[in-house]
Amino acid sequence: MRSDKQSLFRKLPGVDQLLGDPAVEKLLPSHPKALVLKAINQILDGLREGIREGDIVEPGPELNPDSVVRKVVERVAIISLPSLRNVINATGVVVHTNLGRSILSQRVLDKFRPIGGGYSNLEYDLQTGRRGSRYVHVEDILRELTSAEAAMVVNNNAAAVLIALETLARDREVVVSRGQLVEIGGSFRIPDVMRKSGARMVEVGTTNKTHLKDYEEVIGPRTALLLKVHTSNFQVVGFTEEVPLSELSELGRQHGVPVMEDLGSGSLVDFSMLGLMREPTVQDALGQGADLVTFSGDKLLGGPQAGIILGRRDLVEAIRKNQLNRALRIDKLTLVALEETLRLYRDQRVALKEIPTLEMISKTYDSLAAKAERLYRMVSNLVTDKFSIELRDGFSRVGGGALPLQELKSRLLCLVPGTLSSHQLEARLRANTPPVITRLEKDRVVFDVRTVQEGELEMTACAIRDLGCAGPLEGRG
Ligand SMILES: *Cc1c(COP(=O)(O)O)cnc(C)c1O
Repeated sequence: MRSDKQSLFRKLPGVDQLLGDPAVEKLLPSHPKALVLKAINQILDGLREGIREGDIVEPGPELNPDSVVRKVVERVAIISLPSLRNVINATGVVVHTNLGRSILSQRVLDKFRPIGGGYSNLEYDLQTGRRGSRYVHVEDILRELTSAEAAMVVNNNAAAVLIALETLARDREVVVSRGQLVEIGGSFRIPDVMRKSGARMVEVGTTNKTHLKDYEEVIGPRTALLLKVHTSNFQVVGFTEEVPLSELSELGRQHGVPVMEDLGSGSLVDFSMLGLMREPTVQDALGQGADLVTFSGDKLLGGPQAGIILGRRDLVEAIRKNQLNRALRIDKLTLVALEETLRLYRDQRVALKEIPTLEMISKTYDSLAAKAERLYRMVSNLVTDKFSIELRDGFSRVGGGALPLQELKSRLLCLVPGTLSSHQLEARLRANTPPVITRLEKDRVVFDVRTVQEGELEMTACAIRDLGCAGPLEGRG
């Protein structure tokens, strides 16, 4: 057995032999030699492993130099690709955290070039010629849009909650309802963030019901903050009760204790205007007397990843002066994307049209049906036994933990498995260039056109056509 393996190892082409192969040599002018060597070594290592593990037991086609060369060429192509790449989101989940949450509007993208490619007044006051603050670029517009007294921004909402708690409640007590001790995807848990901030959490009420008197009973000299957390990604239904923010704010005022709401998504527009469920807006929270609110930049707001903090001037100032702020500060490209996104909100009609997240959420069924029909026509003449194609009604989701119960009616293009299973179809679409991310529903592969961008429709059709043409092994995911 052992000597068998030795003879198989000897059959493997050497590194120099592979480097000298015309197909590999052809890569060298356009690819660094180190990268080609890396690909060769990865392929040879894989084959050696196969021999060692007994997966390769005879000198079959896998070991012949042509086959090894082909693998090397493929591997060079794969490792030359950047890791972070554009994908087509056909899942219908608009704020898809794993696919980058919100996509940015064209006007925002146009700003990256001048600000990223040139110097800017990031922290430079053009009036005085002295050092300025990076926060001024969004403070005024945030105040204008929300009527907040003061505003600042950090890296993300998790950071906003952390720094607010650390500033206002370190070594003191924060009162929070047991119904709001939430976990958000990516392991953001209120009790854990509380511990990290050095604040002591005082839980009140029960999972389904918390009353005003529950808060009242625990307020004392060590109470630093009353915290409300928007249970963005789930809803407790049935025998439930939460204390309205307005009552909590009143209680806080009576005792001289600030009230903060972590809004999570924090929308600036009222979605009930679009015929959707009502999600409390940032303006609502401030209007109901919250002293501080925090929310994400890249959920329903439709901007870049950021954490926005609004509220009472003295509290926001204290947070701004916290040393932690230096570690959580927002980057200039994020800042310009946030400013440009916020500027679109000056006219709500413009915001709904030009901010992709809002535009996708507010798309009508009729426009989606027309778009799905167009995609269908691009692929309907495909003849294949691998799958069949049909259109159906279905639902998209907002995602990002916002409006968890909201179903958005949509029109779906579905691949019904033939000789390929739905999992094989899904995996091959994922291996496409660019990758097409679909969802599986009742053993069908579903393309929800709501989140497929206009310029991606033809590429999506192309991926489906390739799927129908590819041989049994090609394009395997
Ligand atoms: C999403 C969310 C967070 C975390 O926000 P990031 O911007 O992802 O850091 C915190 N709290 C609530 C209620 C959320 O929904």
